[in-house]
Amino acid sequence: MITPDRTVSTTCPYCGVGCNLQLHVKDELIYRVTSDFDHPVNQGNLCVKGRFGYDFIYSNKRVTTPLIRKQAQAAGARTQAFDRSEWREVSWDEALEYTTDRLVEIYKRDGEHAMAVYCCAKATNEDNYLLQKIYRALFRTNNVDHCTRLCHAGSVTALLKSINSAAMSNTAAEVIDSDCFIITGSNPSENHPIIGLQMKAAVEKYGSKLIVIDPRKIEMCDFAALWLPLKPGTNVPVFNAMAHVIVNEGLVNREFVEARTTGYADYVKTLDKFTPGYAEEISGVDRNLIIDAARMYARAQRGMIFWGMGISQLSHGTASSLGLIHLAFLTGHVGRKATGLNPLRGQNNVQGASDMGAMPFFYPGYQWVDDEKNAQNWEQLWNVEPGGLNRKRGLTTTEILTHAHPGGVRALHIMGENPMMTEPNLNETRKHMQQLEFLVAQDLFINESGAFADVFLPATSWAEKEGTVTNTDRRVQRVRQAIAPRGQSRPDWEILCDLAQRIEARLGRPNSAIWNYDSPAQIMAEFGKLDSNYTGITYERLERHGLQTPVPHATHPGTPFLFAKDFPSGRGKFIPVDYVPIMEPPDEEYPFILTTGRVLEHWHGGSMTRNSALNEIYPSPVVEIHPVDATWANFTDGQPVRVSSRRGAIVLRTRVTEKARAGVVFMSMHFAEAAANLLTNDALDPQAKIPEYKACAVKIEPAAEADLPHPEIRTERGRW
Ligand code: SF4
Repeated sequence: MITPDRTVSTTCPYCGVGCNLQLHVKDELIYRVTSDFDHPVNQGNLCVKGRFGYDFIYSNKRVTTPLIRKQAQAAGARTQAFDRSEWREVSWDEALEYTTDRLVEIYKRDGEHAMAVYCCAKATNEDNYLLQKIYRALFRTNNVDHCTRLCHAGSVTALLKSINSAAMSNTAAEVIDSDCFIITGSNPSENHPIIGLQMKAAVEKYGSKLIVIDPRKIEMCDFAALWLPLKPGTNVPVFNAMAHVIVNEGLVNREFVEARTTGYADYVKTLDKFTPGYAEEISGVDRNLIIDAARMYARAQRGMIFWGMGISQLSHGTASSLGLIHLAFLTGHVGRKATGLNPLRGQNNVQGASDMGAMPFFYPGYQWVDDEKNAQNWEQLWNVEPGGLNRKRGLTTTEILTHAHPGGVRALHIMGENPMMTEPNLNETRKHMQQLEFLVAQDLFINESGAFADVFLPATSWAEKEGTVTNTDRRVQRVRQAIAPRGQSRPDWEILCDLAQRIEARLGRPNSAIWNYDSPAQIMAEFGKLDSNYTGITYERLERHGLQTPVPHATHPGTPFLFAKDFPSGRGKFIPVDYVPIMEPPDEEYPFILTTGRVLEHWHGGSMTRNSALNEIYPSPVVEIHPVDATWANFTDGQPVRVSSRRGAIVLRTRVTEKARAGVVFMSMHFAEAAANLLTNDALDPQAKIPEYKACAVKIEPAAEADLPHPEIRTERGRW
């Protein structure tokens, strides 16, 4: 039995559930992870990632020294450098001076539109606040975004349009108090495993009825009263048909609709054509299942809706999300405990990064950048001269790269993200990355995107720094330092303060904003002055279990559920939506629909999990294919196949499983050696600018064993 030197309470670095972790440390080694049984988020439960996925901290592939590329990179001919010999180790001073020189040179030559930054949904609130502040206050650009654009932009846009608030309305754990809940476009037992556990308990222990609306037979289907196996991209007809049933069977909560919403009469007229029979034709879901689901949800006393990227990652992601919002309005299942609109956020701090203004349209607190009063307030706080901040909305993540050309974006700073894994249509992304004039990577590893960089700034992991993160149900929690930083790595906030002071001096703005913070707590105190969601939060108040935003003043207890009296928009707006098919339906040449997602053992671009022991449990990519399709196409389980779309091709093994729907194949996004995003479609939702990751046409052909990518292709990369 080992006696720890210390046990440090912190928050899991993976998914948006935000589980509490107790890190047991001996001789600077985290050797065990447990959790607090009293913690309201996870009650001591952890999934495999939280419990075992932390050893990436000690990986010998981690970079802990600042690096500069030996070979100068010409725009248009930029290459990836994974090999140590292509970089030279430098001091922090040299790395930051070089970064400052190049950024300021480009800014002075080409102006603010040449500058862009990717903030990071894995980094802390304080890190994200500072990074957007640097680019807004010093480089005067709103070209600031992060991966929320790639996961829930459709949900955010829809929620802002209808109620002017984009966060989850309720606490996930309230599901045990619901009578009925819908899960759609989400696979909680793999993507939000602890919420998945709570959902299973809601069904098995507390008698709630579950409705799953999803193309895949996910594990939660085993707990469901109803499963509606729709074709990918046919959400709108199914949701509208449920609304049609609710209206036509007199199940509308009239009192709620009249008191809390607008636009009902016009909206109802648009439902006429969405009969269950019409929806069945388009979606493939039996009309009786649609009718039963509508009745079950509408008749519940307390109904919740949980949704994920299967709703938002479509070229009509905004419309899909609106379809769900209407169901909650019709039934009055919002504004009370165990009800609500609950888009499950993916990464540990995607909610917080969004709150911090890591988006091109908003300052922290979702304050529009093109609102004069907002701009003036932030100018005052940041000590920027009147009129100094940019009033024009900036470019989104996807647009930043497509604008990487002479006359467009020339310098990009990436903190912790990996667009060369997470953007759709990666062959195009590669061309855009090559066009950049200067690229800064700030990360733990040289990932597929960092390998294009000119300078690499080594950051600490979550276990080596202090800060806060905000989970999917708006709970702000502490991240605490458990071990000393590895090598010369530094916390992101410290790197950014150092860089900002150098940029400020070089730009000749000695009286501009203050960058010399003593601690992340001081950074939080600054943004709390203008973001009323965080005004009442201090590190002391977060000490035990955190607080759920909004926390508008120092004695406010936090807000478990929102909209009890009204919506931030006043009334909720019904905004009619029509069915728009996916951009690339299957055809004779490409007969399958590919849908993508995550698996339990891995996380996003794989930077952390593929450098941890979890990679041994799930070492290689597979394409899931239904037995009917496998028989028809003559594929066996485990056979190497080439999967191609109009944009690229990859080789991997099959997994024959009834989890897939016939005609639909599934692939995860974690494996660089067979990157699913080489295939995905970069068609965008015109409103939310989110790509259509969830549906594109592919063909599958037999391949040879020799065509399979080397299983160690990623892990063989340079040791540092
Ligand atoms: Fe971490 Fe999410 Fe697993 Fe909880 S459910 S341990 S937050 S990965």
